[in-house]
Amino acid sequence: MPGMEHYQFPEKHIMDPFKICGELYYIGDDDVCAYLIDSGDGLILIDTGYPTAQALLMHSIYSLGFDPCNVKIILHSHGHFDHFGCTVLLKTISGASAYLGWKDAKMFRERPDLALCDDCVPFASQQPFEPDYELKDGDTVSLGGITIKVVETPGHTEGTLSYFFDVHENGESYHVGLFGGVGRNTMRKSFYEQYNVSGYREMFADSIKRMYEQKDIDIALGTHTVQAFFMKNREAMLNGSENNPFIDKTQWKAFLDHMQWKLDQLLSDPEEKL
Ligand SMILES: [Zn+2]
Repeated sequence: MPGMEHYQFPEKHIMDPFKICGELYYIGDDDVCAYLIDSGDGLILIDTGYPTAQALLMHSIYSLGFDPCNVKIILHSHGHFDHFGCTVLLKTISGASAYLGWKDAKMFRERPDLALCDDCVPFASQQPFEPDYELKDGDTVSLGGITIKVVETPGHTEGTLSYFFDVHENGESYHVGLFGGVGRNTMRKSFYEQYNVSGYREMFADSIKRMYEQKDIDIALGTHTVQAFFMKNREAMLNGSENNPFIDKTQWKAFLDHMQWKLDQLLSDPEEKL
């Protein structure tokens, strides 16, 4: 969800990058998530943050000992500008391919206003990028030792994608689930009216159901740090927790339960009645 203050002062939101587990690292700031996966044959990124925070993202990649020129694949959870801010720059320096859900690619062509670049006028400068590949439900993306499964989860945008893959540490395999967009901002009555859209609430309800069908998720992730216990886990990690707090089989269901509760709150709010 775009935030004017964050957009204007990205340096206030610096967060040290860190290893989540195995090949998976966190390179985002304290609000918008960005992930790096070291495939063994080049880097995969999932989302690239705000356009004004490009230097922070680069700094995070270098700080972990990786080279941004070695990024080969950039996946996007959805087509909002706070998730693709560094994509064009990274593509330019690395030659990486950019991937986006096919419905959000269509949105870029037909309704670029829905990428919300203009929400931060007068600071907005970045426009939607040109995806090299458009992903659809059931696709897989592979590089080195990593294969990522794509599940369409419309609601936050029509083309929101969720990603599922395994990471490896100390001889163990851990299944990661990343829910690609859960913000209710686009489901609000005011958003429907401002942008002349509809149906996002129903799509999101179906997507939550589909996410419950994903089993055995060891590591639950979202696309903002307020989601899926991210900050709580990070704090526990910094406090020297004996076990990796991100590895917790109960968190995926708890995350989905909370999303369902938040959707129910919206649907039962008289002021949000359509
Ligand atoms: Zn968004």
